[in-house]
Amino acid sequence: MIDIGVNLTSKRFEKDLSDVICNARQAGVTNMIITGTCLKESEAALQLALSEPDYLYCTAGIHPHDAKTFDSTSLSHLKNLALNKQVKAIGECGLDFNRNYSTPTEQEYAFVQQLELAVELQLPVFMHERDANKRFIELLKPYIKQLPNAVLHCFTGSRADLERSLAIDLHIGITGWICDERRGGELLELVKLIPGSRLMIETDSPYLLPRSMRPKPKSSRNEPKYLPFIAQTIAEARSQSTEQLLIETSATSRAFFNI
Ligand SMILES: [Zn+2]
Repeated sequence: MIDIGVNLTSKRFEKDLSDVICNARQAGVTNMIITGTCLKESEAALQLALSEPDYLYCTAGIHPHDAKTFDSTSLSHLKNLALNKQVKAIGECGLDFNRNYSTPTEQEYAFVQQLELAVELQLPVFMHERDANKRFIELLKPYIKQLPNAVLHCFTGSRADLERSLAIDLHIGITGWICDERRGGELLELVKLIPGSRLMIETDSPYLLPRSMRPKPKSSRNEPKYLPFIAQTIAEARSQSTEQLLIETSATSRAFFNI
């Protein structure tokens, strides 16, 4: 199984990163895509991916939270990173109007610039969207046919958001948000509507520890080794076997990231 979103360059993995990777392998995680969230993290993600080139891949991009850092040199930096073959997508990019750590104008600018880069390099895009679905789709739509592939990672939106996203043929990444009894209920229903050829799974480690794991892990840090638990929850919600879900999502992820 492939974890399409891991923030392995996070400080929370600094002390025991090799154990975290080793435990993921033992849990059956066959590949991981390390998320790049700003220039510095994208560079670090690439260095890490290069250390295990058959196991780790990465993205290069600037997260909407960091859109305010996007300047006239960002695009050429990203392009340089993305020319490396370990980089399998542009992103994480997109819109987050929930927190607005960068202004909507800054976010929209950085997002569109990265979409253009992805088209130019013919790389997929790895995207983040919160409370911004309509505008997100509006900005993305003119590029969608020119992009090789596009995923909305960590989908947590409404049924209307999902329908709009599938209508323009987006792939959808599902995290352990679905294991959250307080706020994942709607997602348990919606995940049935995603075709296997569009569904991918991810932990978004170290964020979003699946809340329904028993016994509860001692640490609140999420890890890629918990991906099987997320897969099982998704499979149950879709009334399919975990094995079948993993066959489908692995094939989808391999095709998406070209690995
Ligand atoms: Zn995200």
